[in-house]
Amino acid sequence: MRISEVSVYSLSCPIEPKQVRPFYGGFRRLHKRDFVLAVVETADGAVGYAPAGASSSAMREYFEDASHDSFADLLETRIADAIIGEEIDAPGDISAAIRNLDLPTKLESEAISVFDVAYHDLWGKRVGEPVYELLADRDVQPEPLDMYASAGMYMDPEGYAEQASVIAVRGFDAYKYRPAGPPEEDIETVRRIRERVGDEMEIMIDAHTWWKLGERSYDFQQVEQLLNEIEAYDPYWIEEPVQPADYDAYERLAAATDVPLAGGESEDSPAGLKRLSETGVDYLQGDVRHHCGFTGCWELIEACADDGSITFVPHNFGTHLGLVANAHLITASPESPLLEYPVFGSDVAGMYPFPLAEDVLSTDLDIADGQLRLPDRPGLGVEVNESVIENYPHVDGPWTEFVYE
Ligand SMILES: [Mg+2]
Repeated sequence: MRISEVSVYSLSCPIEPKQVRPFYGGFRRLHKRDFVLAVVETADGAVGYAPAGASSSAMREYFEDASHDSFADLLETRIADAIIGEEIDAPGDISAAIRNLDLPTKLESEAISVFDVAYHDLWGKRVGEPVYELLADRDVQPEPLDMYASAGMYMDPEGYAEQASVIAVRGFDAYKYRPAGPPEEDIETVRRIRERVGDEMEIMIDAHTWWKLGERSYDFQQVEQLLNEIEAYDPYWIEEPVQPADYDAYERLAAATDVPLAGGESEDSPAGLKRLSETGVDYLQGDVRHHCGFTGCWELIEACADDGSITFVPHNFGTHLGLVANAHLITASPESPLLEYPVFGSDVAGMYPFPLAEDVLSTDLDIADGQLRLPDRPGLGVEVNESVIENYPHVDGPWTEFVYE
């Protein structure tokens, strides 16, 4: 196929009123959530879509204004220029063209992701097959996918326990939250959650705050001690308990504890995830929006299946377009049992509203009792609602800030 036009939109969804969430030694400000949408057209008039997985840390690292708008510009100009008009016969043609530009690794992986996902959407539409069948290379009967509810951001212990019980009533049997320290409160939080939801619900702890607390970040001994104490509450996994790319710490932790470990979302590339997978972590969290799209993540899924001791569970904390894209991965892969479902909205105690997450699709997703059933239509199988481009204009600046006291 020949790509003739690329449009990339940076959209913003203001959080009104702005939220301030205290953590141990500081607070986090939430101004808005951003989302970058790519629309890719071929010479014969077909249209493919992709969420552009720009993380805020990457924006801070590579663009002076830390803005998703700058990332959208880069995709629409320099990167699109390398692809438009070229004959694209396979995803490898896209990654080769982008690698020629010599971008920093993280930006390169994110840029490849955008065009790889759009390519699969276009290719599936052309041959009349859903993306999960292209990936699995066989007929697939899509089963309902189990999702875990991902919420819980920097609250007091009772806030998390209350939220977990609300989420259980909604039909989810797994709940992930982000503790905010100090260590004794992190223990109290998991104790209260377990007490409230009983033994039936799985609890995942996203511990990225533990190394984001500035001078109060936990050292290795504190993390090890915390894991030993948390083990009594039977967590499903502890996610990013130490700095990403500190593979040595992951290795020592995996050897020192029986608590399952998860990580990978912050890795710059599929190669980074591969390296992490060798440390003894139990769950590998690649994301089609960040890690070279379907092609990059599918290679990781196959490597996990070959290895047998590590499970690929995609990371996903954005819109329903990203949810659907990652859902295709696990529909194609019977070894991957779970999908991350971000719970937004003011109706769930403690989260922030992000209506753009759902508005981006005009297709109503079949979500019930904590499960998603993907449509069996070609490509990504969903219609994108392009009116979001007008309805959610870009707002300058970062979406969130960490302030240390
Ligand atoms: Mg996480």
